[in-house]
Amino acid sequence: MENITIAVVGLGPAGLTALKCLREEGFNAIGLERRDSIGGLWSLSSQAEFTSVLDGTVTNLSKFIVCSNRLASAIIRCRKDTFTKERYADFLTSAEAAEYFESYASHFGLHQHVRFGTTVRKVLRNQQDTAWNVHTIDAKGDSIEPFDKVVFCHGCETVPALPPMPNRDKFEGKVIHSQAYRSPSPFTGKRVLVVGNGATANEISLALSEHATKVFQAYRRGRAAYSRRGPDGLPFDAQSSWPGLRLKHFLDHHVPFLTRPLADRAVQAQMVRDAVRSEPVRRGESEAERRRHVEQRMRIDWHLLPCASMAHVHPVVQDEFLPALRRGDVIPVRGFKDFVDKTRVLLTDDAVVEVDAVIFCTGYGTDFGIMPELEMNGVCGVPLQSAEEVKRKKSGARVADYEITSDGLSDPPHIPRLFQMIFPPRRASSIAFISWMATQEVSWSVSELASMAVAQIWAAETA
Ligand SMILES: Cc1cc2nc3c(=O)[nH]c(=O)nc-3n(C[C@H](O)[C@H](O)[C@H](O)COP(=O)(O)OP(=O)(O)OC[C@H]3O[C@@H](n4cnc5c(N)ncnc54)[C@H](O)[C@@H]3O)c2cc1C
Repeated sequence: MENITIAVVGLGPAGLTALKCLREEGFNAIGLERRDSIGGLWSLSSQAEFTSVLDGTVTNLSKFIVCSNRLASAIIRCRKDTFTKERYADFLTSAEAAEYFESYASHFGLHQHVRFGTTVRKVLRNQQDTAWNVHTIDAKGDSIEPFDKVVFCHGCETVPALPPMPNRDKFEGKVIHSQAYRSPSPFTGKRVLVVGNGATANEISLALSEHATKVFQAYRRGRAAYSRRGPDGLPFDAQSSWPGLRLKHFLDHHVPFLTRPLADRAVQAQMVRDAVRSEPVRRGESEAERRRHVEQRMRIDWHLLPCASMAHVHPVVQDEFLPALRRGDVIPVRGFKDFVDKTRVLLTDDAVVEVDAVIFCTGYGTDFGIMPELEMNGVCGVPLQSAEEVKRKKSGARVADYEITSDGLSDPPHIPRLFQMIFPPRRASSIAFISWMATQEVSWSVSELASMAVAQIWAAETA
C-alpha cells in the first residue's frame, strides 16, 4: 500500500480527514494546500481570492454535533478534552474552529505530510494512462508530479457567484463579492447595500451596522432561519436524536412530497415562535396578538415569509439578525436588479436605493475545471460535457458553476457525474471528490465518513 501515492488537494476539514484516513490505511498520501495553514476556510486569510470566515464568525451548529458525529467519532477521541464545556462555548468561534483543526492535524501527525503554499492548477491523466499528472505552482515555480490517485478536497465555495449586472460600469461606488470582504472598517461612514440573505449576508450586515451610516439588505424571498438555542437555552441541534434524524432522512427520501412541505411549515412556525421570544412585550397585548403582530411584520415589513423550501436552500441562524431589523440597524429591501447610475441601485420592485458600496453575498460555485476530463451534466436535457468545456463556455476563468439571474432563475447548474457524489464512474479507482458531497447534516463529520469510505474501498481494491 505504501507504494501507492495519493495527492489530497486542499487541507480544509475534508482534506484533513481524507489525509488521515488514507494514511491510516497505509497509503503514501500527501496533502497539497495553497494556504500556509490547516483548516481550509476556517483558517483566516487576508487574501481576497481565498474564501475565508471572518473574525466574528460563529459556527451555526453546536460543538456537540459538528465535531462528534456519532459514527465518525475519531475527532472526539482525538481531543476529548478540547470540547469540554469549560474550554469552549457551545458554538465555536472561527478562532476556536481553526485551533481545533490544527489540534486534529497535530494529534494525527499530519503536518509533516502536507506541502503548504502549493496550488494545484490542474490534474491530467498521463499519456500512458498509468498515473495522474498533478500540475502545481509554489514559491519555486511550476512543476508536474505523477500520483497514482487524487482526492479533491478543494472546497465547494471557491468561485464567487454573481448576478448579471449589465449597468455595472455606471456605478462609481465600491462593488465586491463577500469573498473579498474581511472587515467593516473600509465602509465606515458609507451607505452600503448587502445583497443576499444567507448566513454571510446577515453576518456582514450586522457588522456593518456599527460602522456604516446606512445598511440596506436586498433579498428576493425569505429564507428558513432558526435560533441557535431553544427556549430551554440548549443548542437546538443537540436535541435531535440520531435515530430521529435517520427516520427524517428515510422519509425525505421515500415520501418527499409529504415530508418537505411539513418540515417547511414546521420551520416557519418555529421562526415565528423564536421571533416572538425576542420581541419586547407590549402592555395589554395577548400572546395571540403578539404572535400575529410578529408574523405580520415578518411577512409584510421584512418579507422573510414565506420562505424558500429547505429542500433547496440551507436555513440560516437568525438570533441577532431579527433584533437588528427591528431596531432599524439593517433595512430590508427587495432583490437587486441592476445599477442605475453612479450612486443608485435598482431593485426588483422597481424601487431605487442610493448607496456608496455594494457587497454581493450571493454564494459560490465549485471549480471542477481543476480536473478537465471530469464528466459533467448529461441529464435533464443538458448535454454531457467535460469540466474543461463547461469552464471554457463560461466567460472568463472566475465564474461559478451556476449563476443567479435577475428574475431569480438559475442558469442550469452544472452537475459533476459522481457516483454517490464522490467517485467519477470511469475513474472510481483513482479519483474521489470529498468536498462536493451535498451534506444533509454536518459537513465536517460527513466528510470524515466519506474519507473513511474512500480509504477503505481503495484499500480493499488494492489488497
Ligand atoms: C463563510 C462560511 C461560513 C461557514 N460556516 C459554516 C458553519 O458554521 N458550519 C458548517 O458546518 N459549515 C459552514 N460552512 C461550510 C464550509 O464549507 C464547511 O464548514 C467546510 O469548511 C468545508 O470544508 P472543505 O474542506 O470541503 O472546504 P474548505 O474549508 O473550503 O477547504 C478547502 C481547502 O482547499 C484549498 N484549496 C482550494 N483550491 C486549491 C488548489 N487548487 N490547490 C491547493 N489547495 C486548494 C483551500 O485553500 C482550502 O484550504 C461555511 C462556509 C462559509 C463560506
